[in-house]
Amino acid sequence: MSDFSLRILNWYDQYGRKNLPWQHDISPYRVWLSEVMLQQTQVKTVIPYFEAFTEQFPTLEALANAPEDEVLKLWSGLGYYARARNLHKAAKQVCDDFAGDFPDNREAMESLAGVGRSTAAAILSLAFEQSHAILDGNVKRVLTRFHAVEGWTGKAAILKQLWGLAEQHLPETRHRDYTQAMMDLGATLCTRSKPRCNDCPLQADCVAYAQGNMGDYPTPKKKKSLAEKHTIMLILKTSKNEVFMQKRPPTGIWGGLWCFPQFDTQQDLDDYLQTQQLDTLASQQLAPFTHVFSHFRLHIQPLIIALESPLIAGVMEDEHSLWYNIHAEFEGGLATPVQKLLDALTA
Ligand code: SF4
Repeated sequence: MSDFSLRILNWYDQYGRKNLPWQHDISPYRVWLSEVMLQQTQVKTVIPYFEAFTEQFPTLEALANAPEDEVLKLWSGLGYYARARNLHKAAKQVCDDFAGDFPDNREAMESLAGVGRSTAAAILSLAFEQSHAILDGNVKRVLTRFHAVEGWTGKAAILKQLWGLAEQHLPETRHRDYTQAMMDLGATLCTRSKPRCNDCPLQADCVAYAQGNMGDYPTPKKKKSLAEKHTIMLILKTSKNEVFMQKRPPTGIWGGLWCFPQFDTQQDLDDYLQTQQLDTLASQQLAPFTHVFSHFRLHIQPLIIALESPLIAGVMEDEHSLWYNIHAEFEGGLATPVQKLLDALTA
């Protein structure tokens, strides 16, 4: 076994995380669920969602057979909603294409929706004890620092180099522990800011540590300034505390989630209002706020229009729109700003 992996495993034996919920009753289903949730999300955020999902959907079949709204509702607040839609899709794929058993090879695993090379490798090593290198954000940070790899890790050439290094360090045994150890080392010691190098088993030959420039790795992507977008969220609210909600299309921002009607411009809003025969009592602008996505900033201006009754021509219920009583439980996924506004309305 290489000295690198031996040191990592020895460190893991003493300090690694061994009590995470998905480390008990290990099964491909539980490992896959946790790995998808952990993409771009920290362990402490994931734990309550993992517990809620495994309680509501104790088996893969239960998840596959659930309505998408139920899955999105449970995912609400975890962000990156494409993951939830892919999770649901992949559960159906495993049931339909693999007779309900997760595949045990990388190619088939990577054919599942939302499962890329690193996630497939993590599931195969954690659930099946197979030898595969992983390369998530934590491992990229450890390797770029340890080997002083310069260049943005999203670049194909850098990525190839990192995969090569990740594979080179693999141990011959204890594949599950090694994968978990690499994740833990990146999450707990080799952190983005203030890495705890003095506690690190790799310190003796870590190039970034020797150079004293750990913070320079991984090389950040050249920054593009975020685009700015504006939207008006229209809250049509009746005297019976019902608000009008629409389901977003399945793809794109907040795909499949429920939102208030949105308008890019005042003119679009005016045109919409004109086509409705609204029995308007009053209107009120709420304080504007901003929701930040990875590639743009959305400035939201909420507008409440109080109505006498929901029975408005054109604003009828169908499978993509409904009147919802704000004091009842909502049966579907809600975009975070919409949840925020609903909380404000019921406060
Ligand atoms: S010595 Fe420091 S920078 Fe190097 S791998 Fe360890 S924690 Fe990361």
